[in-house]
Amino acid sequence: MLDPSRILERCDALARHSELPGGLTRVFLSPESRAASELVLGWMREAGMGARLDAIGNCAGRYEASEPGAPCVMLGSHLDTVRDAGRYDGMLGVITAIECVHALHAQKKRLPFAIEVLGFGDEEGVRFGTTLLGSRAVAGIFDASVLSLQDASGVSMEKALRDFGLDPQEIPRLGRKKGQVLAYAELHIEQGPVLEAEGLPVGVVTAINGFSRLRVTLKGEAGHAGTVPMRLRRDALAAAAECVLAVERIAKGDPELVGTVGRLEAKPGAINVIPGEVMFTIDFRAPRDELREEAVSRSLAEAGRIAERRGIKTQVEPLQSLGVTQCSEWLMVQLERAVAAEGVGVRRLPSGAGHDGMALKAITDIAMLFVRCKAGISHNPAEAITREDAAIGARILHRFLSSFDAGHRLSA
Ligand SMILES: [Zn+2]
Repeated sequence: MLDPSRILERCDALARHSELPGGLTRVFLSPESRAASELVLGWMREAGMGARLDAIGNCAGRYEASEPGAPCVMLGSHLDTVRDAGRYDGMLGVITAIECVHALHAQKKRLPFAIEVLGFGDEEGVRFGTTLLGSRAVAGIFDASVLSLQDASGVSMEKALRDFGLDPQEIPRLGRKKGQVLAYAELHIEQGPVLEAEGLPVGVVTAINGFSRLRVTLKGEAGHAGTVPMRLRRDALAAAAECVLAVERIAKGDPELVGTVGRLEAKPGAINVIPGEVMFTIDFRAPRDELREEAVSRSLAEAGRIAERRGIKTQVEPLQSLGVTQCSEWLMVQLERAVAAEGVGVRRLPSGAGHDGMALKAITDIAMLFVRCKAGISHNPAEAITREDAAIGARILHRFLSSFDAGHRLSA
């Protein structure tokens, strides 16, 4: 039977494998990630799965179908963390999936499809600065050029994989073909405050928001803070301040849009020097691509006007952007049935954060179930969920699996 205490105990057990004493930091291909993987592989085997560490360092478990070799429903999430992380972001999804298989195994129940559970080795991208490495490999969209990326100590990803005992040449073989995976479903903490505010333990995700990231550099003129009169200044930081407020104003223009300036660096950075050059980043996210794209172009136009008025030069560098990843209606409907069968109110909501489903979408339809977390806090040691919510999430995922019907794919 499903055991929510075991789910929480296992989250605690994984949290003990951390490079940060007294906190939780566990990055891709680290000694801590090896120890965590060994625990997870053991739990997978105990739940009746064949389990191995794959060539990119994912924990990959498979519970056979009633007919061996049948296509699978894939469940999963990630086992890496951000720095000074919480213990549920990622891990809860992997451990709950294992718990569901454990319950089927205990009843000696096989389903008409296999269940694969993936504990992805890297989703957060902390070590090499590029995200979704584990799920990209499984989706067959791993970009081999990232193997030459180096971590902060100058170790390349290729070397890190080899030192971990893995063969990077094998990564292309991890890619599943379309048809082998009937659906990908992920349980994850919400990482936001919506469910708690509405008194709901879970929510069904509609889409993973697209994002655009840019770097803007403003070039004015540095000068003596005492001698240059105000009217003759070209202060790049004062211009940047106007730009930051413009980003905020534009983002506030639509309840579905969020916009953030998360980094700002002023040069030369001295108390008695007018800032001559400022770099800042912009991050926009939205559940609709046109909304996000319009916000980006309005912000850049506004920055251009601000700079012109102040005699400042602008330079814009797009860093990364990705369109919205839609969850599939036929899977949302099946998840909602499982939610309703638990007597829980059905709530749909978009995901503001990125998730492994963005990569898996390349080979299959995806669904996500969000579990309420305390005060919407994540990426923080204060991240918390209740035992009751962990139990409800597990029951819903188990019900979704047991009644999963691949034939119920709605025509788009
Ligand atoms: Zn996560």
